[in-house]
Amino acid sequence: MRNRVHDEASLRRYVRPTEDELRALEATKEVFRWNITPYYAGLMNADDPDCPIRRQVVPRMNELAPDIVGVVDPLEEVAHSPVKNLIHNYHDRVAFCVTAECAIYCRYCLRKRMVGDADFFLRKDELQAAIDYIAAHEEIRDVLLTGGDPFTFNESHLDWLLARLRAIDHIEVIRFGSRMPVKLPYRITDELCEVLARYHPIWLNTHFNHPKELTDDAAEAVDKLLRAGVPVGNQTVLLRGINDDAATMKALCEGLVRMRVRPYYLYQAQLIGGTAHFRTSIEKGMEIMQALQGSTSGFALPRYILDTPFGKTPLDGSYVQGRAGDFVVMQSPRGALWAEPNPLPPGETRVFSLPEIDLPAGVATIEGLSLKGSFM
Ligand SMILES: *Cc1c(COP(=O)(O)O)cnc(C)c1O
Ligand code: SF4
Repeated sequence: MRNRVHDEASLRRYVRPTEDELRALEATKEVFRWNITPYYAGLMNADDPDCPIRRQVVPRMNELAPDIVGVVDPLEEVAHSPVKNLIHNYHDRVAFCVTAECAIYCRYCLRKRMVGDADFFLRKDELQAAIDYIAAHEEIRDVLLTGGDPFTFNESHLDWLLARLRAIDHIEVIRFGSRMPVKLPYRITDELCEVLARYHPIWLNTHFNHPKELTDDAAEAVDKLLRAGVPVGNQTVLLRGINDDAATMKALCEGLVRMRVRPYYLYQAQLIGGTAHFRTSIEKGMEIMQALQGSTSGFALPRYILDTPFGKTPLDGSYVQGRAGDFVVMQSPRGALWAEPNPLPPGETRVFSLPEIDLPAGVATIEGLSLKGSFM
């Protein structure tokens, strides 16, 4: 963590930066932090700015381009937070952002609004307030510890937190969302695994996006977690130019399975401001899922999901109704009709298309966005 790449000089040790990247290092400073672990920086291609590793972590000027769809909090997480950093949007489970600190700052991060921001690092009394909320709500059976990255906490801090959560009778499952196996695999130490193993059932989802991330060091980190009895799943974000083709996705999913990691979700990229260059059409993701279905082991297939303020919605024929201009219309599992702003990216090649439909009456979308005509 101390040796992270964080300025031009340290970046130059790994890559020959482009003019655009150098300008972006300065220009994006106020918008979103950047840091890259030496391990992850070592996976970058020095000469190819479009390297799928490099694009995830090195700022680009695109992040400052006008992005009319881009919003700060597309899932209305703040509105669903009864206590600071605790999101209660599903009846029986919560996402608890125990810290805003991360080891690297992925340029498309869903929680850019808070990740890396010292205002969202929780003090012990603030952690306790969230624990008290969970203890007072007997319907909560599943607690997701996320962030930021919860494994930026040291072992004694994690032990403190886990002991308090385990003391609550109605908590059945505790799970972690951590990208450490991908960005800093050496964080998965024997000591960390010993702490986790004391509080089973503990599950973990990590976040591999590309086959280049499936290194021997990452496999060793995963193996440690599995030996400690922690099932490891993976959540991938579908990212334009990084993993948005069937061959890359198949190699990723099959590589994960070889490491005994179960592909869990493939997320449609969210409408975070400054990330339009990462987004694909929803048709693209459906096309990739169709190509994978039947062509690999069933347990190598993730579910393709769009997270909405009405909950996660599978992007397949049973929920997606069609395309109405720049929107894709779906019925969320909670019954609400949702129109996802999803203009077709210029230059994207696609073979799959959705039926063209009219916008249904009563459909919801991002607040403040007009459903009449194009918003671009
Ligand atoms: C995704 C998410 C969860 C967990 O959902 P699962 O589908 O059970 O993995 C819980 N809370 C929030 C706020 C979420 O966004
Ligand atoms: S690891 Fe997760 S929380 Fe951290 S910057 Fe990346 S996407 Fe955001």
